[in-house]
Amino acid sequence: MDKIQIQNVNFSNYRIDEFLDIFETRIEKEEKTFVVTANPEIVEYANKDEQYYQTLQKADFITADGIGVVIASKVLKTPLKERVAGFDLMSELLHMAEKKNKKVYLLGAKESTIEKAYKNIKDKHPELNIVGYHHGYIDIEDEELVQSIVRLEPDMIFVALGFPKQEYWIEKHMDKFQKGLFMGVGGSFDVWAG
Ligand code: UDP
Repeated sequence: MDKIQIQNVNFSNYRIDEFLDIFETRIEKEEKTFVVTANPEIVEYANKDEQYYQTLQKADFITADGIGVVIASKVLKTPLKERVAGFDLMSELLHMAEKKNKKVYLLGAKESTIEKAYKNIKDKHPELNIVGYHHGYIDIEDEELVQSIVRLEPDMIFVALGFPKQEYWIEKHMDKFQKGLFMGVGGSFDVWAG
């Protein structure tokens, strides 16, 4: 089964390597992709907030970001194959971007955090083409910022504004891009910053 429903969230039932194959194909085809990595808090929130639920309906893929989601799937007798954490998926995608020469944009976290994260990512992936980054203390309606990112034509856009803001930003602005894999990554830039 490709989809597993837990409460009102439809998870894509793939292992991380399967997700990566699918994403690589979509990136090569320049097919836009909206990825949500949903932990139990996100599931709970989607079940009480109609707007967030509607936003998640627009995601192309929702991964189980947390063992709690995987355990719930087993209890419901519709087991998910494995946990696919946002940080792990982002790390693998950065690796792919470096190998395949894809352009990456980083949006989110505090100014000092994103600067450190950028530096640490570049240290680990010297050949990686990070076309730009911006801190996340922004107005979600900020069109000028969006257009500055659109012009860079990134293949992957990692958005770390915390939920629900990061998913709202992606939903609101994805249409303006010609291509790109968009993924909310919560506190991942803080982890990269160390
Ligand atoms: N963040 C941001 N803009 C905001 C709110 C949060 O850039 O308006 C950043 C915050 O600095 C942190 C990241 O979003 O780097 C994730 O925040 P949090 O841990 O609260 O989110 P969660 O992991 O719960 O999604």
